[in-house]
Amino acid sequence: MAEIMKKVNYNCPFCDEAHEITVIKDSTKALVNSMPVEYEEIYYYCPKEDDKFAPKEIVNKNLLAAKDSYRSLNELLTSHEIKETRSLYEVNQKEFANMLGWGDITIQRYEKKSIQDETYDQKMRFVRDNPKSALDELERNKDKFDQERYEEIRETVSDFVETTSVKYFYKEIIETLYIDYKEESQENGYKTLDIEKAENMIAFFSQHISSLYKVKLMKLLWYADSLFCKKYGRGMSGLVYKRLHLGATPKAHEEILKYSQTSIEIIEEYFDECIAYKVLPKGNVDLSKFSIEEIAVLQAVVEKFNHMGSKDINDYMQKEVAYKATTDGETIPYSLERKINGF
Ligand SMILES: [Zn+2]
Repeated sequence: MAEIMKKVNYNCPFCDEAHEITVIKDSTKALVNSMPVEYEEIYYYCPKEDDKFAPKEIVNKNLLAAKDSYRSLNELLTSHEIKETRSLYEVNQKEFANMLGWGDITIQRYEKKSIQDETYDQKMRFVRDNPKSALDELERNKDKFDQERYEEIRETVSDFVETTSVKYFYKEIIETLYIDYKEESQENGYKTLDIEKAENMIAFFSQHISSLYKVKLMKLLWYADSLFCKKYGRGMSGLVYKRLHLGATPKAHEEILKYSQTSIEIIEEYFDECIAYKVLPKGNVDLSKFSIEEIAVLQAVVEKFNHMGSKDINDYMQKEVAYKATTDGETIPYSLERKINGF
């Protein structure tokens, strides 16, 4: 369906004068490599002539959109995905091309206009999914970089390899600890564990709660899953919660926090004889990982508990049916979680 993006004053080629032009986005069809594709096209519309045109940079954008649609259909990386891949390693187009042993402008061409061959695609995909192989490629093509830049890139790639291996390691442990919850059930809120979603929820709370400690975070996760279940009949993350004397706590919570180390930082704070673990945000939350309904539930939890201390939340939690009907150490079924007091 056609959508008006904006109105601009533009030098109209039909009328040969500047006047108000409507910029429109519409889905359209084209043939790319003799394959029919559908894509979003942008064009300028002159109401006086009732005709459309497109400035050169918009024509290029449309061509790229058509080709990206073709790439998606053929399971090739799109221009955006190629850009994302090289962003992982913080290299520019020329550097990424050189890193893979290709000519200087190869990546620039793929990001701007040309469709890559399958072999080129496979190589880019491989270094995207296996950071260690990016390091190997870089070393193989070392002579294409000056020493200083080579070392900079190597450090960035090495750090990335390390982080992804640590994440992979904890993911394996978490999956092992959740091995009994591979089917949708009362325990996981009729949703199998989505570790990335759990990490994003943690990141969200670290960004939006003014003073967040580990114990409070555990309860916020529980309330987010419970409230979501109350509204939509299933949990948000698939986390399984146990009732502990400090409150509801997700199974494998230590491992989940370690897995989330790219999103949060935990620092120790000492109060008299106690240690408290403060949770600080690191980087940005990718809100696109959540549905609108999920964001609304997370925001409701933030609003409700942002200024409540640990003890207040604990007192509040004690009044929940889920608490009254379970004992310490027991798994809290979502059939009880969904009975939380609404807010
Ligand atoms: Zn005109």
